[in-house]
Amino acid sequence: MSDVREVIIIGSGPAGYTAALYTARANLKPLMIEGMQPGGQLTITSDVENYPGYPEGVLGPKMMEDFRTQAERFGTEIKIGMVTEVDVSRRPFTVKTEFDTFQSKAIIISTGASARLLGLDIEKQLMSTGGGVSACATCDGAFFPDKEVVVVGGGDTAMEEANFLTRYAKKVTVFHRREVFRASKIMLERAEKNPKIEFRVPAVVEDILTGEDGRISAVVAVNPETKESEEFPCEGLFVAIGHKPNSDVFKDIVDVDESGYIKVHDGTFTSVEGIFAAGDISDKKYRQAVTAAGMGCMAAIDCERWLESQG
Ligand code: NAP
Repeated sequence: MSDVREVIIIGSGPAGYTAALYTARANLKPLMIEGMQPGGQLTITSDVENYPGYPEGVLGPKMMEDFRTQAERFGTEIKIGMVTEVDVSRRPFTVKTEFDTFQSKAIIISTGASARLLGLDIEKQLMSTGGGVSACATCDGAFFPDKEVVVVGGGDTAMEEANFLTRYAKKVTVFHRREVFRASKIMLERAEKNPKIEFRVPAVVEDILTGEDGRISAVVAVNPETKESEEFPCEGLFVAIGHKPNSDVFKDIVDVDESGYIKVHDGTFTSVEGIFAAGDISDKKYRQAVTAAGMGCMAAIDCERWLESQG
């Protein structure tokens, strides 16, 4: 039983690192399995201006580095790897990655969410070959100096990406499938006031065309009301249509909602005793770094008290 950990934290990011910090300080010697994108979504973000304690703002990757360092300072053991299987049919639980097998009395899931794509055939191919399609303006915006780019989406992410892209691009056109925007008023207004940003609504992007160089040359968009189709030339496409919870490995183990978000009750308890969830994997409402960190703290405290109750 000496190899049985008290708690394994699956996934990094604000929730995971905070859960690690708290469980480490509670002497639970947590093992964190960090995933293939250590630090999560914030590592593909630039300025974070709404995290308390950083009056001048902070770069997302730097903030995650700080979180990680703080968690390690109190003895968190961190391993890179993707969890491929979790066996909860007997206790202690078994957690497998592509490299190792671990056992633990408790698990905190904090695997976050990933960007959604349009589902067009060529989309993923152009993403992986540097063909001009991306889901992260912060990561790839600098590749489009003085170019004309398209952003798809009508939420805060789309507005944020469009604004950010105007630092580099000559012109940014936002394509949104409805005339009503999900984005907050302030973010929408900021984009509307930006002279480099134009809007096409309602417009559904149905195809991506490529030039002889294999890169994107245009998007084909259809007005869902008039059914009119437009071929819109562009040199880049940024997909900003929301996120999908990273719950594939867990959805047959703990209860999830219709979108795949892990259901929690009484704080961070899941449907399986001893398994807790925190951050964007179980929160589709707030989805902020500060709320994820808060949930990570809650999961650590819930986990600590639950372990104590088990003797
Ligand atoms: P979101 O609010 O869910 O918006 C997704 C947008 O993409 C919606 O406009 C949606 O259209 C559109 N969409 C979804 N699937 C589509 C498809 N297949 N084809 C075309 N369009 C599609 O997601 P989000 O913008 O990523 O924001 C997520 C959360 O993070 C929100 O709570 C947001 O406030 C927050 N956030 C905050 C900040 C900030 O404060 N700095 C920045 C980014 C995000 P419909 O409206 O028609 O459904």
